[in-house]
Amino acid sequence: MTGRRERLERLDTGAIRRRSVIPAVLLAGAWLHAGCAPDGGGDGAGAEGGDAAPTEAAHFEFTEVVPGVYHAQGASDLVVGSNAGVVVNEADVLLVDSHISPAAANALVEDLRSITDRPVRYAANTHWHFDHAHGNQVYPPEVEIISHEATRAAIAAGRSNSGRSYELFVGSIPGRIAQMEATLDTLTDEAARAELEATLEGQRTYYAQLQEVVPTPPNTTLSERLTLYRGGREIQFHFFGRAHTEGDVIVYLPDDRVIITGDMLTGGLPYMGDGYVNEWIETLDRVKALDFDWIIPGHGDPYQERERIDHLQAYLRDLWDQSVALHGAGVSPEDAAARIDLTAHADNFGGIAGPGANPVAVLRIFELLDGTAN
Ligand SMILES: [Zn+2]
Repeated sequence: MTGRRERLERLDTGAIRRRSVIPAVLLAGAWLHAGCAPDGGGDGAGAEGGDAAPTEAAHFEFTEVVPGVYHAQGASDLVVGSNAGVVVNEADVLLVDSHISPAAANALVEDLRSITDRPVRYAANTHWHFDHAHGNQVYPPEVEIISHEATRAAIAAGRSNSGRSYELFVGSIPGRIAQMEATLDTLTDEAARAELEATLEGQRTYYAQLQEVVPTPPNTTLSERLTLYRGGREIQFHFFGRAHTEGDVIVYLPDDRVIITGDMLTGGLPYMGDGYVNEWIETLDRVKALDFDWIIPGHGDPYQERERIDHLQAYLRDLWDQSVALHGAGVSPEDAAARIDLTAHADNFGGIAGPGANPVAVLRIFELLDGTAN
């Protein structure tokens, strides 16, 4: 609960509202039934204004960032991976990102009934990573799943241009489980044992759910831009250039003044091992040219402080420049990662206690400089 309270305190603008919970009877036929009760529309009707508490369902917590636009964050032991954006239109719903497994994606669809009974007709993958796209298979064929064309190709191939694969991302789970089991054998403290047992159980459950994943490519793609007009709402999908991956899409709601960014922006430092670190900086310049008040990131809480984009750009620029210099001096990526000093950014990002950079990020930059991976 502490985590939830912290999130609430950070969302203190008064724009967050609570919706009443819809009776469980409406859970039936949650998918594509047409004809909708007047709840959860883009006009904000039904919102109980002024109450900043999010709606808590079985597995997710829904925070209404602006009327009809929600941030869905995992709130149970179910491993869901990323955030999802939920856009409730006059007659249908758009879900942005499908989480880490079919179990997580189904849980979101069921929990969605706590905020609306309108059918899911659109989904989107902001990028190809497993924690944003491995729930796609739960959507019926009538649901349009939208992504950049490079994201579709990566999901279909199970790997990106950089060579990173789903196997790379999830292949280490059995080893991690074995390691936790070994650690558990050595623990005597009851509280520590209980905590590790809970984590272990979550990982075992997730690993079982992972076996059910059938990577399912989106059925609608864009190369630069696609726009939906749903009721009174305009929904823009933009590709502004490569960044966190080769196919990052920003979902922009111009009237709601919200962007949903995937992992191009997160609550902290995004994963860079599959990224285009120098191009990322320029791509973010194009994102900043949009007119918006709220950022719903791929991980972490929604926020309004645009300067946080500047902070990420400054970090990426510094990381890139130092990497280029050390690469030019013939330093190995491992040694470069130890020598790079990003302590100037410690006020903006947690976990920077001294010199050193993420070796995965530095290796990726060296690949780009060497031309050994796309
Ligand atoms: Zn990602």
